[in-house]
Amino acid sequence: MTSTAFSQPSSMRQTNARPSIAIIGAGICGLRCANLLSDNGFDCTLFDKSRGVGGRTSTRRAEQWRFDHGAGYFTATDPDFFAAMQILQPWLPTESGEQMYAGATGSNELAKSLFAAVSQKLTAQLGTAIKSVEKEANSRWLLNAQTGETYGPFDLVISTAPPPQAVQILAPTESPVSQRLATLQTRCTWALMLVTETELPIPDLVSKPNHNIARVIAEHSKPGRRTSATKQGQYVIQASTEFSQLHVADDPAAITQKLLAQLHDLYGPLPVIVHKQIHRWLHGGILTPLGKPYLWDKETGIAAAGDWCTGNNAEDAFISGSKLAHAIVQRFS
Ligand SMILES: Cc1cc2nc3c(=O)[nH]c(=O)nc-3n(C[C@H](O)[C@H](O)[C@H](O)COP(=O)(O)OP(=O)(O)OC[C@H]3O[C@@H](n4cnc5c(N)ncnc54)[C@H](O)[C@@H]3O)c2cc1C
Repeated sequence: MTSTAFSQPSSMRQTNARPSIAIIGAGICGLRCANLLSDNGFDCTLFDKSRGVGGRTSTRRAEQWRFDHGAGYFTATDPDFFAAMQILQPWLPTESGEQMYAGATGSNELAKSLFAAVSQKLTAQLGTAIKSVEKEANSRWLLNAQTGETYGPFDLVISTAPPPQAVQILAPTESPVSQRLATLQTRCTWALMLVTETELPIPDLVSKPNHNIARVIAEHSKPGRRTSATKQGQYVIQASTEFSQLHVADDPAAITQKLLAQLHDLYGPLPVIVHKQIHRWLHGGILTPLGKPYLWDKETGIAAAGDWCTGNNAEDAFISGSKLAHAIVQRFS
């Protein structure tokens, strides 16, 4: 039986001049947006299908190892993102010359810190996959979860899921936002998490060593990551967009073997492999970004934001969330 979980009685909302807001996605974009809106007194409910926050900045744990199998590290030009990043550690990979930031316990430290700053100020519905958004009688929005529960009503719904997922959720709204999202294409990224008995003879960060590999990141070289006195190498190998798209539907075990063969071709015989695990980010990035920081249809009260608006980095996600939140604050102030 379908249950209805109203986050606040609608009678209370009638007296509130500011819209009640549902934010779908607790990645960097959704968290930043939620932070700014909550700080400005908006009543926000944050949904994510995962039980943890961070989206594509999540960190995978296996035994004593941690792998940033999504965002491997962070850089910033935006002063607000730079300030948010200061909870991370500076990381200067060998031979790179560029200052980067990484979490001592993983990339997800950034999202965790953004969430800690806001969790008391909003309702968080983690572990809740939203299936669709539909209009209720008085033109406000209800969110239907995969489990059959319904949340709302909300005046404004913001999706920060990657476009193909957002399209599915927002399709029933028939909003122009949904129609624009349908024109955007994401790309897949395969990421191999690897532990070798000894380190490979390579710098801490190798970019585009060949056509099939985008990056080899030595996780053990990040601050605080060396887990024991051993000389094990801990790596994330990100396949290139070309390779990942070509093999998007391939068997994960076959992809693992192909990527190991690539490493062998590049660096010679590999040390003994202690651990390997492959992950496919089906919506790892955007092929061609939207070209503006967010979508917001003020008539319907449907908005969408995320890294895909302007690029493929966490900073793009942060800026998109910031700009949408500032626009909403400005409109309702
Ligand atoms: C392999 C890889 C390497 C990368 N490397 C870097 C890097 O080195 N540096 C860098 O800055 N960036 C990097 N990025 C990009 C970075 O991870 C993203 O730009 C950033 O995390 C995007 O944040 P976001 O909030 O826009 O989206 P996401 O992180 O995708 O957040 C969207 C959230 O929506 C949730 N969601 C989706 N559908 C639903 C639903 N139906 N119901 C509820 N919740 C839903 C998801 O669970 C997710 O948490 C990398 C990405 C990948 C995949």
